[in-house]
Amino acid sequence: MEQTKSEHRQKSFTCQSCGLSSPFTTTARNHLTQELLEECFVTRDPFSPDKEKFLVLGSTCSLCSMCVCVAPECSLFYTKRFCMQCVNKHLDQFPQQIRAELAKKKQSSKAAIS
Ligand SMILES: [Zn+2]
Ligand SMILES: [Zn+2]
Repeated sequence: MEQTKSEHRQKSFTCQSCGLSSPFTTTARNHLTQELLEECFVTRDPFSPDKEKFLVLGSTCSLCSMCVCVAPECSLFYTKRFCMQCVNKHLDQFPQQIRAELAKKKQSSKAAIS
């Protein structure tokens, strides 16, 4: 893919958890046609012919404001975005359903490694 607008410097989003880095278009959610539940870093989907399609890269943790990507290892969305560090720190404040899902996720990722 060729960057034709090289003079236009793009801002870059970096996940502070896994180090994933990607240029992002905007952080606002209001002018997007897609319904977004949170203020997050989005970029235009380069693989979609639909120009209105956006990809959500990540968001900031509502507790520690760390930039985290949407990967399940890095963050969790439960009414707000939380980084996994905060999720683990405040695990007892999340409902049983979320804790069960996290436990399941941990189990399956362990199974995938071994
Ligand atoms: Zn990440
Ligand atoms: Zn956090």
